[in-house]
Amino acid sequence: MTTGISVHDGRVTYRLWDTHAPEFPARSRLFKLEPIKVGTAEVESLTSYLSRLGAEHCTSPRRLLLNEVLASEGKATYSNATLFAAHRLNGIQEIADIATSVLERLTLRDDLRHMTLLNWGTVISASQLLRRKKVWCAICYEDWLSDGQVIYDPLVWAIEIITNCPRHDKRLCERCPECMRQLPLLDRHSIPGYCSWCQTWLGATNKAYLKQRTFKGNEQTDVSGQAHIALSVGELLSCSPNMKSILSPESFVANLADSIAKKASHNINFFADLVGIWSGTIRRLLVWQTKLRLEVLCKLCSRLNASPLDLLLDRGNDEALRKRHLLLERDIPLVKEIVPWEEVKGRLQLALKESPPPSMEAVARHMGYYPPKIKKHYPKLCKQIINRYWENQKNKRPPQETIIGALKAALKEEPPPSLQRVFRRLGCKDTGYYYYVNYVDLCFAVAKRYKAYRNKPFNKGKGQRRLKAALDEEPPPSFSEIARRLGHKREFVRRKFPELSTIITSRYLHYMKVLRKEKADRLRHEIRKAIPQLSAAGLNASEARVKALVKPTLPNLGRDSLFKQALREVKAESGLA
Ligand SMILES: [Zn+2]
Ligand SMILES: [Zn+2]
Repeated sequence: MTTGISVHDGRVTYRLWDTHAPEFPARSRLFKLEPIKVGTAEVESLTSYLSRLGAEHCTSPRRLLLNEVLASEGKATYSNATLFAAHRLNGIQEIADIATSVLERLTLRDDLRHMTLLNWGTVISASQLLRRKKVWCAICYEDWLSDGQVIYDPLVWAIEIITNCPRHDKRLCERCPECMRQLPLLDRHSIPGYCSWCQTWLGATNKAYLKQRTFKGNEQTDVSGQAHIALSVGELLSCSPNMKSILSPESFVANLADSIAKKASHNINFFADLVGIWSGTIRRLLVWQTKLRLEVLCKLCSRLNASPLDLLLDRGNDEALRKRHLLLERDIPLVKEIVPWEEVKGRLQLALKESPPPSMEAVARHMGYYPPKIKKHYPKLCKQIINRYWENQKNKRPPQETIIGALKAALKEEPPPSLQRVFRRLGCKDTGYYYYVNYVDLCFAVAKRYKAYRNKPFNKGKGQRRLKAALDEEPPPSFSEIARRLGHKREFVRRKFPELSTIITSRYLHYMKVLRKEKADRLRHEIRKAIPQLSAAGLNASEARVKALVKPTLPNLGRDSLFKQALREVKAESGLA
């Protein structure tokens, strides 16, 4: 084959045509739309991608999903559901897997699954993971519009525990400011940035939105936990593309066990207090009886000051796994018998016959379940158990007058006691719920008084002056008395003024010693007078007889040992012993 034109002997030879069909790259059925910011914390969500893809094909994203994507997998039945669970598309369940694989095939892309949480699926629980309705940050929409960027919905907005925009720290919007309706994640008219009901622009220049903002003022929400949560979730999202083969329950459990060993010296209960998570949840995570909820993971990260990857990734630590087994062996037997769910009902019925009646809390924990879960499934049985428990508790409690008396006395006590202290005095061993419910006003008054006392600022100069004044006082006051006058506990005063406190105490002790000596002298004096009277009457000088004679002149005999000592001494003097 030659190319070009050549002239030879007056004859023109034209170039030969290559008639082989060229090799076309494979055609995709759907437009190969590029997902936004994959591998970052602001990665687009699959529902947002579907909305944009639908717009490219001038069709409804919902129809695109049902007819093109799910129908080919025999999943078209989803269209029959009136409430299509679109939020699951962004999640970790089968539907997300199916949708992304089919879409990847149809668009010839290989990065669509990173717009879902599929890579977390092995470890993170689907429970309370994703929102069912759309939320958005109006400022983000507006920023993208003015920067000429593509408007989209980040995956992070779809995550339930995220309530604030991670970029602007403002609460995410839940309702269209114009029509006040909540927006579905995916429906016929979904386009990121617009209300799918009234087609209003949802960015920050929306007039209704601006009006709301000025009306509400600069909305400040509780952002304390949000910053940390956003950080943890962001880290997970940005690492998602590289995570697939790495996340495993074993690694997480090993890391958790390692933390418990390090932070709480192997004590699960202590660790639970430290991280503010129910100890039962920790135990079940350790045996992988339950999947890890994202909220729990974020809480662990925030309290342990760790990144989620520290807790999730395998650090090649067999040692930690061994530690976990040690931990479980050493732990109370609770964890060894998490009762299978089918047996729970039977156990509840047995608990109704137990004596003394156990509390619902105890029953649930002994089976290894979170009490509210059991209550939700067996409300009637639980009600019976609770009633039985309270009926028994009621008989154990002091009578009403005693309770009211103790609470009223506490209102006059100085320094004010805490409510829990009053409960303990009444013999209450639990949280005192019964008292709260039945004596609410008194309980509140006691608690309020204690709180005011606790929060009272301490004037150190004034305290010092009063303590110094007490040094000149006669008779010397006891240290307890001084503390009472200052309205603080003895330990507190001692901590603030260690030297002055020591002087006050020793002064008082010295005074008491002198007082005791005086008293002993007077006692001996009276006893010396009493013994001859008794011998004159021909009676033996027994302790009781002497006491009876001495009492009228010395009504405050003091401690019994003091009297006995004085009597022994007098008898020894007179040779009566
Ligand atoms: Zn924002
Ligand atoms: Zn609207």
